[in-house]
Amino acid sequence: MPELPEVEVTRRSFADRIAGAVIDGLHLGKPLRWPLGVDARALAGQRVHAVRRRGKYLLLDLDEGLLLLHLGMSGSLNFAPQQPMPGPHDHMDLVTDRGTLRLHDPRRFGAVVWAPAEDAPQAQKLLGHLGVEPLAGAFDAARFHAALRQRSAPIKQVLLAGDIVVGVGNIYASEALFLAGIRPTTRAGKISLPRARRLHQAIIAVLSRAVEQGGSSLRDFVSAEGKTGYFQLEAAVYGRAGQPCRVCATPIRSMVQGQRTTFFCPTCQKP
Ligand SMILES: [Zn+2]
Repeated sequence: MPELPEVEVTRRSFADRIAGAVIDGLHLGKPLRWPLGVDARALAGQRVHAVRRRGKYLLLDLDEGLLLLHLGMSGSLNFAPQQPMPGPHDHMDLVTDRGTLRLHDPRRFGAVVWAPAEDAPQAQKLLGHLGVEPLAGAFDAARFHAALRQRSAPIKQVLLAGDIVVGVGNIYASEALFLAGIRPTTRAGKISLPRARRLHQAIIAVLSRAVEQGGSSLRDFVSAEGKTGYFQLEAAVYGRAGQPCRVCATPIRSMVQGQRTTFFCPTCQKP
């Protein structure tokens, strides 16, 4: 599944090239997760001003309103001056005077939704519950700690919920908790300020590194159609149950938390 780093890498792959382009037409294939919410013909002639990201949504600012794109479980976007004929899993072509942005999505959990404004109900239904962006200046250690203090659930599940900080998916949560030396089962509200600061730094480090490496992981992702994780070759704990910890050689353990598998080192990560 594309996680925040893959979505950010996708954004960077076409944002500069499509900015300023004029839409010729939006062509949709089989139904995606939600309807577009506007007559697609109304988009023709509008300019794409910028491509922003909020969580795992890409926001294309148009003359009137914005398009919200989500890659779902298996989606990928490609922007090219010429595209081949659409295949059976190509469900959106946004044709512009600079090229065509194509959504390829075999499982069709992706989405293309138009909203009149970012604060309009159509957009807020999708974006309203999202926590702060981990790679933006607004992600502040003291505020992060204060938010964790309000939660009694295990820290791993609080991170995955995405309403305090967005985009820390299963792989990245496991890796960040290892880097911070915090056991995934630790109650969020029990984490001290110094440990919350370490976790804050670890989340930024893990996600930033994944974005830096995104070029190659994104190609893997496209060819594998979302079936494999990224970032796994060098993971400290994720997917390494039974293998020696890279720091202390204790075998890495796995457990199920909220229906997701969690990996941790019982020595390096303290409750
Ligand atoms: Zn260890």
